[in-house]
Amino acid sequence: MPELPEVETVCRGLRPHVVGNRILRYHQFRENLRWQIPFGIKDKLEGSIIEELNRRGKFLLFKLNTGNILIMHLGMSGRILVSDTSKEKKDSKKPKEMGVFFHTVKPTGPHDHIIIDFSDQKRITYNDVRRFGAIDIFKSEIISSHQWLSKLGPEPLTNHFSSEVLKSSIKNKKSYIKTALMDQKLLAGLGNIYACEILWESRISPFRLCLKIDNFECEVLANSIREILRKAIEAGGSSLRDFKKVGGDLGYFQNSFSVYSREGIKCKRDECGSSVQRVNQSGRSTFFCSECQK
Ligand SMILES: [Zn+2]
Repeated sequence: MPELPEVETVCRGLRPHVVGNRILRYHQFRENLRWQIPFGIKDKLEGSIIEELNRRGKFLLFKLNTGNILIMHLGMSGRILVSDTSKEKKDSKKPKEMGVFFHTVKPTGPHDHIIIDFSDQKRITYNDVRRFGAIDIFKSEIISSHQWLSKLGPEPLTNHFSSEVLKSSIKNKKSYIKTALMDQKLLAGLGNIYACEILWESRISPFRLCLKIDNFECEVLANSIREILRKAIEAGGSSLRDFKKVGGDLGYFQNSFSVYSREGIKCKRDECGSSVQRVNQSGRSTFFCSECQK
């Protein structure tokens, strides 16, 4: 599932292709993703220019010159592909279209749900196998009260986040620290993978209760959160050379995971002789080392 670093990578990868570009055509091949795609989205998008593309938590925010914001969530498996339709090979066997106005667009893959064509012939395709992604369009004035954004916690890589902020948000919680880290209301952008990685880095057990985490541990945690996310974004950046792959993949950072998906493999700390365990925790796989995470 794309988490903060992957969405940030998508954002950086897409930005040079879409910012300043005019949306010519919007096509959708189904009425819903996780939820209903808003009625009238086509009319609101076509003709508008994307002025900015930003990220908030795991959401992409396309600011349009019409005063609207297009918001997208990649869900569990959403990917955005960029292509240049001016370079697509023309199929010589295909019969000629009946004039330039008879232009049909068909999804190229079974899970391509949305295609947006731009005036410079760039195309972005939203592909989502599991369809947990979501899309909405709203007036920019209501950004702080939008249902997907209003309750989001601080961005971990900004000044809105610190060990003190973390401490105050978890000090009375009886939940597991790992569950809390994945709570978007507490902190925006973390999911299962990075919560596991951050806790291993901090040497804190995923089964510790929030209210038992002391000030020093909060400081260690806050530092690990920033460090792991920065490294992952850096690794994602290096996967951007092939811009067709901008969308939601884990990039090269997956090769550097310390615990995630490493069940049974020796813990990466040289001094630790233990191996990584996987336990089901609140319905998600938790990977950790019981020797160095206490
Ligand atoms: Zn270990």
